[in-house]
Amino acid sequence: MKIPKRFKLYGHTIEVVWDNTQCHDSDNRGLADYRNNRIVLQPNGDQVKYPQSLVAQAFCHELVHFLLDCAGYPDDRKDETKVERISHLLHQALSTAEYEDDEEPFYVADLLSKQTGANK
Ligand SMILES: [Zn+2]
Repeated sequence: MKIPKRFKLYGHTIEVVWDNTQCHDSDNRGLADYRNNRIVLQPNGDQVKYPQSLVAQAFCHELVHFLLDCAGYPDDRKDETKVERISHLLHQALSTAEYEDDEEPFYVADLLSKQTGANK
């Protein structure tokens, strides 16, 4: 599963950054930094070495925190049990998704621009 550099939620750009100090010092693999629209992930290095599946899972976990926050569920975003369950399902779906090899990626924005004639 590829981990993005950034993505958008409700028009806000969420940056994905790798920071050894913020996560390692708190013994987390990631954190949702709502104030700065960032997901911070623990990079692998000499001190810390996680399997790629755990790094991807950490990204999904922090993503679910952001999804619940943006969707207007402030209590659910703090519910670590709920966040963890949803993030494991999301991680499995994204990491096992199969695509047609020769097809171009499908983006909703491209479809919309074709329908409306935008970007021409
Ligand atoms: Zn969490």
